[in-house]
Formats: sequence, C-alpha cells, structure tokens
Amino acid sequence: METTQEVKARVYKFGDKTADGNSKMKNLLGGKGANLAEMSLIGIPVPPGFTITTEVCTEYNLLGQEAVVNMITPEVEQAIENIEKIMGAKFGDMENPLLVSVRSGARVSMPGMMDTVLNLGLNDEVVEGLALKTGNERFAWDSYRRFIQMYGDVVLGMKPESKIDIDPFEEIMESLKHKRKIELDTQFTIQDLKDLVYDFKDAVKKRTGHDFPTNPYDQLWGAVVAVFNSWNGDRAIYYRTMNGYPADWGTAVNVQAMVYGNMGDNSGTGVCFTRDAGTGEDVFNGEYLINAQGEDVVAGTRTPQQITKLGSLRWAELAKVEEEDRVKNYPSLEELMPNIYKELNSYQEKLESHYKDMQDMEFTMQDGKLWILQTRNGKRTGAAMVKIAIDMLKEGMIDEKQALLRIEPNKLDELLHPVFDPKALKEANVIAQGLPASPGAATGQIVFFADEANKYKFTILTRIETSPEDLEGMNIAKGILTARGGMTSHAAVVARGMGKCCVSGAGALKINYKTRTLTVDGKVYHEGDWISLNGSTGNIIEGKVATSEPELSGEFAEIMELSDKYRTMAVRTNADSPKDAKVARRFGAQGIGLTRTEHMFFEVDRIKAMREMILADTTKGRKHALDLLLPMQREDFEGIFEAMEGLPVTVRLLDPPLHEFVPHQLETQRSLAEEMDISIEAIKAKVIELEEFNPMLGHRGCRLGISYPEITEMQARAIIEAALNLKAKGIDARPEIMVPLVSTLPEFLNQETIIRNTANKVFEERNDTIDYLVGTMIEIPRAALTAHLIAERADFFSYGTNDLTQMAFGLSRDDAGKFLPMYIEKGILKADPFEVLDQEGVGQLVQMGTEKGRKVKPNLKVGICGEHGGEPSSVEFCFNTGLDYVSCSPYRVPIARIAAAQAAIKKQG
Ligand code: PEP
Ligand code: MG
Repeated sequence: METTQEVKARVYKFGDKTADGNSKMKNLLGGKGANLAEMSLIGIPVPPGFTITTEVCTEYNLLGQEAVVNMITPEVEQAIENIEKIMGAKFGDMENPLLVSVRSGARVSMPGMMDTVLNLGLNDEVVEGLALKTGNERFAWDSYRRFIQMYGDVVLGMKPESKIDIDPFEEIMESLKHKRKIELDTQFTIQDLKDLVYDFKDAVKKRTGHDFPTNPYDQLWGAVVAVFNSWNGDRAIYYRTMNGYPADWGTAVNVQAMVYGNMGDNSGTGVCFTRDAGTGEDVFNGEYLINAQGEDVVAGTRTPQQITKLGSLRWAELAKVEEEDRVKNYPSLEELMPNIYKELNSYQEKLESHYKDMQDMEFTMQDGKLWILQTRNGKRTGAAMVKIAIDMLKEGMIDEKQALLRIEPNKLDELLHPVFDPKALKEANVIAQGLPASPGAATGQIVFFADEANKYKFTILTRIETSPEDLEGMNIAKGILTARGGMTSHAAVVARGMGKCCVSGAGALKINYKTRTLTVDGKVYHEGDWISLNGSTGNIIEGKVATSEPELSGEFAEIMELSDKYRTMAVRTNADSPKDAKVARRFGAQGIGLTRTEHMFFEVDRIKAMREMILADTTKGRKHALDLLLPMQREDFEGIFEAMEGLPVTVRLLDPPLHEFVPHQLETQRSLAEEMDISIEAIKAKVIELEEFNPMLGHRGCRLGISYPEITEMQARAIIEAALNLKAKGIDARPEIMVPLVSTLPEFLNQETIIRNTANKVFEERNDTIDYLVGTMIEIPRAALTAHLIAERADFFSYGTNDLTQMAFGLSRDDAGKFLPMYIEKGILKADPFEVLDQEGVGQLVQMGTEKGRKVKPNLKVGICGEHGGEPSSVEFCFNTGLDYVSCSPYRVPIARIAAAQAAIKKQG
C-alpha cells in the first residue's frame, strides 16, 4: 500500500473564487484570514492573497527570524506568483507592478491592536511604473509617501513612543505645509510628494542608520516579521491580558493584493454593518469616503458619509444638515453610485445569511470596481447583542439554542446599569453634540490624556481622536469623547466593544492638550471640570447629571425567559438588605445564597451595640449588648425574608474578626470612651488584644461563635423569630442557617447544637414551629477534604470560593492585588483566581467536596456563594460539577442565568 506523507502547509492561498482554507480554520489562519478564504470560496470579490499561519508566529517566537524565513520562503514565493497570475501584474515590476498589503490577524479580532503596512512593493523605479500604469502620477507618489511613512513607523520602529514626541514623518509634512502655506494633505503638488519621499527616506537613514529597503522581497519580510513582533507589543499584550487570551495563540499574517480607493472620484472606501451595532435594528448601515484609503476612515481625520439613504437622512437630522446641503455635499452611496451600492447590498445580504450573524465589512471601490476587503462577526453593544439574537431567532435564521449561545453573558452588564435620569436630563445644559458612537450614560471629570484616566474617580477621556495607545485609559475612563472621527473611528469601535459610553466626532469642540482645556462656543472647560455624555444621542452635557435604573427591553425579557427554558441549575443572589433582595428578585433570583450578617452591624445605630458587646469582659456584659442587637437583626431578617417570600434564604452567622468593628483612630476611640463612659486606655487595651498578625486566618468565622456562644444564640433567635413573625402574617419564610469557616466536624456540631437548641426554645416560647436548615460553608480546604464527615450532619454545603481560593493558593485576598497583575502579565496565571475560578486547582476541592458529601447524603444541597458565582466560566464549571445553585450579586443574576443555560446547552451537545 502506498503511503503519502502530509507536509504541513504554512501558507494558505485565496482569490478568484478558490482558497486553500475556509472559515472553520480561525485558529490556524486567524479570523481575518479564515474569512478571506471563505469569502473567496462563496464568490465574493476579495483581492487575492495568502495567509501565513498563526503556527508560524509561534515557530518564529521559538526559532527566530532566519530559520522561519528560510522555512517559508518557497511557499511565500509560490503564493506571490499566484497573486500575480490573478491580478495580471508582477511584484517589483517596473511596468506593471503588483503592490500588496500586509496585515495581522489573530484568531479573535483585536481592533487596532496590530500593525498594518499598505502599498508594499514600491521603490523609486516601481513608483514610475505605477504612475504610468494608472495614468495618475499624483496617486503613485502619494501611495509611495504613505508607504514609507507606514513602513517607517511600523517596521522600522520610528513611531513616537510618548505622547509628547511627534511622528517624524508628520513633522516633515507639517513643515512643508507651513512652507507652502497650505493646510490639507490634498493640497500637496506632485513635486511636494516627491520631496516628501526624499525627505522621508533621509529621515529613515538618519534615524536607523540604514537606507530604506528597495527590494520588494526585503520589504515583505520586514513587514511579516513586524507583524509577528507586534503580537508581543505592549498594546497587544494589554488587550490579550484584558480579555484573557493566551500568548501562545499567535497572529497570522495576511498578504493581499492592494486595491485602491484613492484613485480619484470613481474610487472610495468604507466600512459597513449588516445591522445596527448600537441598537441591533435590522438596517444595513455604514460610512464611506470618496477618494480615500481605508486608514482615512478608521483614523477619523475626515468625516465620512453614510452608505444608505436612510442612514444619510438620519445623520443629517442629528447633525442638523439641511436636505439641500446633504444632497449636494454629503450624499449617500446609494444616491451617488447606485450600481455599486446595489452590488454591495447584495454582498451584505449574502454574507449575513452565510455567516448567520451580523457582519462588519470593509470595502474598497477602485475605479468603479467593488472589492470586499474583510468581513467578520460585528462587535456590538449589549442591547444590540440581545436584539439581534432574538430577531434572528424570529426570522428563523438561528434556533433557540444558537440564540442563547450568541449572548456574551458579561455584556448584559451594559443593559443593567443606570441611564440618565430623564428628569435630570430635561434640565441639562447640552453644550454640543457629537455622534452617538456607543450608548449608555457617563458622567465624570475631564482628562485629556489616556494615561491620566485614573486621575479622578470618574473621568471622561476627552481627545481630538483616540489611537490604540489609548486603550488602557479608555478602559479606565467612564466615558470617551472625541472631537474627530465617525461611527467607525477607533474610539467608536473600541468603546462599543468595551460597552463603554462614547460620543465621537464632536466637531464643535476645540481641544488644546497644552493648556488642558476644552472650548465650546467660546466657553472654556478645564481638566477636572465635570461633564456628562449621552452615548445614545451624542449629547455632551455640562456638569454632573443624575442617573437612574435602566428599563429593560422586551427582547431582554425574551432572552432571559428563553434561558430559563434550557437552564437546570438555580441562580440565587448574595444580598444583605431587603432592597438588594428585591432588585435581585426582579432579575430572576431564586432565593438568597448568602446574607452576610456582619454588614448589618456596620450601620451607625448598630455599631455602638456591637462595640459594647466586644468591649464587654463578661458573658453578662456581652448578653446585655446582644439583647440590644437582637431586635435590629430580627427586623433585618423579616425584611429580607419578606422580599424573598416563598424562596430559600441562606443567612450566614457572624464571620469577620472582631477587630474590624473596633475603632483604630485615636479620635474615634476617644469619643467611644466618652460615650460608653470607660477609659480610653481600656479601649486601647481591647484593640491591642484583638489585633492579629493574620486576621484572615485568625479569630473569625465559627471560631467566634464557639468562643462566644451567645452571639450564635442571638443570631439564631433573630432568624427563627423573624420567620415565625412572618408566618403569623401568612408570609412563607424559608431560612437556611449557615455556619462559616468550618474545618472540622466538631466545630460544626458545636454550632449546630446551639442553633437547634435556640430554635427549639423559641418554638416552645411561641408554641409554633417552622422548617429551617442548618448547613455550612465549605471554604477551608480541610472541610472539602473531610466533606464526607461534615455531610453526616450538615443539611447543605455552600462553597465560599473566595476563602477557598485564598487558602488553596496560600494567597491573601487583601494583598494579592499588589502582584497578581504582574503574574497575569507574565503568563504565570491566566486570570485573577479571585475573579475566575481556578478549575484546575480550587475546582478539584469543589468537585471532591461535592462527591464526598453526596456519597454520604445523595440529596445534599450544594451551592456556591463566592464571587465566582456570577462569572460565566465558573458558572459553567459549577453546572458540570452538579451544583444545585450558584449565588451572585444582584446585577450578575441575569448573567448567571444565561451562563447556566449555555452550560446546559453545551453539555447536551
Ligand atoms: C467566600 O469566602 O467565598 C465567601 C462567600 O465569604 P466571604 O467573602 O464573606 O469571606
Ligand atoms: Mg468566606
């Protein structure tokens, strides 16, 4: 039998309705490369090209430049030949030159993160050929100067490193403009462009010590290597870290024949979406520029026009542009080039129904011919995500399970957060209007530099335009405001991805970075002044504006209802007050998984009694103070039980070390001494007595209840009396009493006995009973290891994964923040384990405890109440481990509901 040895391909070609790859190969070809291949396969006109795989990037990181270039040279040369054949042009040819673009493309879209080089293949001879071939000398020289500039910045490292440095190429252009007394790039003459090329090359030589490379292949390899290097650049690392993408994914490199949108008035370029990425409305929309390259649209230096007539009319209304002016100066593509528009419209329909999702496409028209440069599933706001999923379900494009899987649970956050209070908005002073680039409401103090976004607690990052360097600051700021740029500008795209409120292209703003001022209509605003943004209307408002709870749309309710159809695991909430309990119930919480009773003790009127209890030296003294606390606790519980009527409420006994309740400042100690009529020395002595080197591992949790049984007695009594009081009113209260920080069975038994004895006493006193449970938290590794013993007596388990993580890692919850970011940056940890459950390690304890517990008690109720209970990947883990419920903060309840439904769907397959 014959055997054939498969040779691993590292370069995948596409173009002219064929392709070596397809859309399923995203991990290998990157999102962009896989989609280019797929588009070519389904007959969409993409400029031909090839993709160097992500694996080569990883090989590059391991083996270095020389080895990798040698390894792929034959395949790359062959692929270039293929492009030459399709385009009928030749790479480096003086008469009929082929130029290419080189772009990065990771498996997930990282907007603006990686660098791109256009017009590659030009040199002093080729530029003449290009001028002859196109009959457009100006275009040829403009392309050449753009190429040197981009190549210099991206490949040769001439991009300015700090905000005060100026791009050397921009500096040369500015000085020429100054000399020639012109303002716009388009005013340069051909001779100017030639001079610029000369000066640019000179600047390269001066800065790098080398001549600008003239050989097209040398240029190509330089660019390919630069793309690989950009995967490990600061911007990319930050974006990867923020999103939890591992370093070993690597990026692919896409090399593609250049097509030109800047060849005159019959050419242009644009970006479009098959549905509205802000609202989800099913309308084709986008922006274009005549006689421009793609970078011009994204950079936001010119204000683009709308693609559809409908979009153009809506834009004109917002921008207050008269119809006559609109038709004359800002016509839509639909009106200006109806045939091209028709063709584009047919491709957007074809692509959306092919990918069955909203597409974000880039296109270029070169001399009347339309090329699609890119398509991908479009980034969208949380509201658009929900609406599109429900709409596509109703249109029959996707089924229920697919609709649910389309929801990125964390993105629901955007829908649940406050919007401007309509009343406050009526009185607001709108100072200017920009484009509604990313919906939501933001109020904060003005900062002008991304690296100062945390100068105040709430900031509005205010920029002429943003660039990828600003990413970190954009993430920190409450809102983003730019003077330039359209709906597809960097600021707009990134803000929508982050779900951050953004107003862009507000041309009325004059921003001066030097004086740190923003001037509108003659009025000057300084750094630190408050402004507010309405990302849904584009309004820029003076001062602070009150916010109010959002109203949830019909589609939101529909998707949540749908999630309940597929979900089998319950979702509870962590709530310490009737108000939180009510919010959570509205969001669909099926009970409370954790009430931290200590939070109630911090309120002004209670802390006094609490301190009296701590300062008491005798049991009698403590009991006196506890008698004061009892009615307050009972009242709290009544409120919470009532809000959760008919649903279980887990109340945890006092957990934190007592020193947290005593005052540490002299001033407060003094007034406490006066109030309680004791000496300040006595207070100081008590504070010292309570001090611990390691309080998190100290006298806390059930250890308190064991030392001071009267505390447990008081709390148990308050819970049972509250439930009985409600029962008397016909309200169904279902308390579950939880003992914290148990590590041995005897600890649990000690507390359980006190609780049950107290309950029996109350039942006798009242001559009535209710059902209640007594369970424990599993938050110490030893408890998980001995779960089979504890389960003999505990009615339920609830994993306290905050403490469990702390103790499994030996990592202080309170101090780890100082070095965890460094761990994540270095790839030592993939994510913060206090945020995302460490399934590999801590997860084992959860699994083991559950298995051991259920071996003894098959129906043992098991849940989780650590912060992980609202984190989607952790919710999935809990479902797969067989937990009965997750419990999370009220605003995360919808997120957990969706995540639990998705987990169930994924398991069904
Ligand atoms: C936990 O440890 O996970 C927990 C829920 O308790 P706390 O955060 O109050 O320690
Ligand atoms: Mg805990």
